[in-house]
Amino acid sequence: MTDKPSLAGLAPLRPGMFRLDANGEPTGLVAGRCSGCGRVTFPARAGCPHCPPGTPVEDHLLSGDGVVYAATTIRLPSALGHPAPYSYGYVDLAADDTRIFAPLVGEKGPAVSVGDAVRLVFFEIPAKAIPGTLGYGFAVQESRS
Ligand SMILES: [Zn+2]
Repeated sequence: MTDKPSLAGLAPLRPGMFRLDANGEPTGLVAGRCSGCGRVTFPARAGCPHCPPGTPVEDHLLSGDGVVYAATTIRLPSALGHPAPYSYGYVDLAADDTRIFAPLVGEKGPAVSVGDAVRLVFFEIPAKAIPGTLGYGFAVQESRS
């Protein structure tokens, strides 16, 4: 059982980045999908670098289940307030055919390994400089044994 605090009402790290439910709780990340080539980018861009200018980019809800492609552990204080040590990495989202950069959080955060299965999580960014800001990361899933 978890006692998850409400994240409704927090300011998004970037406008339009989060999909919210009727209560304002985040349920997913909104990427952009190019209508020309189908590439998915996160955060969404206004235009696709692979297609002619003006090719529409549509909202695309990311799946939230991924695998760590690369990770690094940082042992200095974080500008976003994450206590050291903490990790960042690239996560492959197979269902979306894309790779995104994100903090790797949760109990195993600093010990995350390439190939670990991770799931999208949301939290209030701990930085005192930007209070009340909604952020995202990926946490290692429970043991799959
Ligand atoms: Zn494109």
